[in-house]
Amino acid sequence: MTNPLLSRWDTPFEIAPFDSISDEDFAPALEEALAAHNAQIEAIATNPDAPSFANVIEALEAPCRPMEQVLSVFYTVAGADSNPKRQELQRAFSPRLAAHYSAITANKALYARVKAVWDQREDLDLSDEQQRVLMLTHRGFVRGGAALEGANDARMQEIKGRLATLGTEFTQNLLADEREWFMELSEEDLEGLPDFAVAAARAAGKEKGVKGPVVTTSRSIITPFLKFSPRRDLREKAFQAWAARGANGGETDNRAIAAEILSLREERAKLLGYENFAAYKLETEMAKTPEAVRGLLMDVWGPAKARADQDAAVLTEMMQGDGINGDLEPWDWHYYSEKRRKIEHDLDEAELKPYLQLDRMIEASFACANRLFGLEFAPLDVPLYHPDCRAWEVTRNGEHVAVFIGDYFARGSKRSGAWCSAMRSQAKFPEKQAPVVINVCNFAKGEPALLSYDDARTLFHEFGHALHQMLSDVTYESISGTSVARDFVELPSQLYEHWLEVPEVLSEFATHAETGEAMPKEMLDKVLGAATYDMGFQTVEYVASALVDLAFHDGAAPADPMARQAEVLAEIGMPHAIIMRHATPHFAHVFSGDGYSSGYYSYMWSEVMDADAFAAFEEAGGAFDPERAKALEEHILSSGGSKDPAELYTAFRGRLPGVDALLKGRGLAAK
Ligand SMILES: [Zn+2]
Repeated sequence: MTNPLLSRWDTPFEIAPFDSISDEDFAPALEEALAAHNAQIEAIATNPDAPSFANVIEALEAPCRPMEQVLSVFYTVAGADSNPKRQELQRAFSPRLAAHYSAITANKALYARVKAVWDQREDLDLSDEQQRVLMLTHRGFVRGGAALEGANDARMQEIKGRLATLGTEFTQNLLADEREWFMELSEEDLEGLPDFAVAAARAAGKEKGVKGPVVTTSRSIITPFLKFSPRRDLREKAFQAWAARGANGGETDNRAIAAEILSLREERAKLLGYENFAAYKLETEMAKTPEAVRGLLMDVWGPAKARADQDAAVLTEMMQGDGINGDLEPWDWHYYSEKRRKIEHDLDEAELKPYLQLDRMIEASFACANRLFGLEFAPLDVPLYHPDCRAWEVTRNGEHVAVFIGDYFARGSKRSGAWCSAMRSQAKFPEKQAPVVINVCNFAKGEPALLSYDDARTLFHEFGHALHQMLSDVTYESISGTSVARDFVELPSQLYEHWLEVPEVLSEFATHAETGEAMPKEMLDKVLGAATYDMGFQTVEYVASALVDLAFHDGAAPADPMARQAEVLAEIGMPHAIIMRHATPHFAHVFSGDGYSSGYYSYMWSEVMDADAFAAFEEAGGAFDPERAKALEEHILSSGGSKDPAELYTAFRGRLPGVDALLKGRGLAAK
């Protein structure tokens, strides 16, 4: 019998035939797929014809159908509907796939042919998109170390191996410190804690094998403790343990590891011909240079610090009202800030929820896409991987655009969080393929299913990513949809969240599950007001971390990262009662792997852009301004990675993004 993962899918819109695939099919299908892909690569590398755009770059672009089919189905079910068998397969597949792809980048014969095409690029008469794909392909090989020879090549391999080991050690040390520490609480120590926090503390005690409740460094336990416990001495003790993760001396101390990682990264960047690691890392981003990143962060820092200082004064006064003199300390901030929040923005989640029905919020996200881009959504009855999944055919003017799958409910077999992935990406080469896009969320089930406001934002966020995939209109798959720079990829998703806040959208779709009435205006105002609460604090703790990350990688690697961290914080005037969101010894974004090293700024970068981009609609006359919607689709949503992101943004906006709209949105603009 043929393996259903390898045969051509004769289904509506070539959606994977989930009902005929079993877990036993994955391993043999992957073997065949790897062999097929290796054969494809080998044929390109050893082609006796002179290297050309068609026989090298396009040949690499041509999808390896067996690989795409196996991996798209496997990753979908491994993330959204796992089981022990699938977990075992995942453990087996990950190293094989990592080795497979790094062997392609290290293939010298293949690189020689890519370089030959790159060297004749001026004479090839390529379209803009073809030039871009050629540049990205060549750059990918060079950045992977394909151009290095002899001793340099060997040293690069050594560095990569050592960095992988250090990253794993960093993570494991952090986990060990987090597991190690706990603080036992007596019954009186539970005073002021809400029921859910008490229950969590008791459950944690059981897990630690002690009689009573405990505080641990798990975010879901320590954060409510710092918010609600009136015991200043206990808050201090818990806070100090939290802040010291990774810096407790002994075997699990991460400080020397951080220093070695930074030094190896610098060496690696220099081997590849870059001035420092930040220059290497930012080359592929919209920001491009450390100066651009620092400029943006500092534009936000000033107003954020000013707001945090004002807030600190208010909180200090509240603390003194409790008879405590002296400075507001970091272990006081959450406690007094929560007290203040209750006074100024009390929002009853239980009252809000009936207005946010999942089905109506899905309708709202579709209705906005209809008004903005003319998309229509019709339910599609096809077998999927779980009975909770739903599918729609997406059309425009009667023509097929995409298939959209929504998998909204939490279950034990799904990993946490929310994400968007494409089971098939849009492309026109070598033949036209329409996208199949999935949004996966973790909402609670119910009759009807009701969302929190954060859930509703998540739904719009992931749908924004889906639009980026569905409206993609490029030739080559490697630059399709969300295949863009890291600091650009969150623009469509974060931007789409703004339509949830449009009053006419909420008044039409946020209707009470029982009475059908629209959400009252006062409630809407409260929801929006709560969203900007304590933004001074949040912005300061975040921007400080981003600036330290940048300082570590821009210039010579510091021999003593802790000293460099202290220097940076002193330079920017870090407020006394706020610490970095992630201090160096537990800054996993930066040290557990390369993903966000010299890139922690990108969350803020995207937020600056989404605020600025939505302001473009408001300036033009409203959230549904047709000209702006057209420009958004033409220059951003349909373009994927076919052009430099700064060029795409400028084409949409007429200029690069500025921070004004973000400061306004976060409530940090001068009043
Ligand atoms: Zn996102």
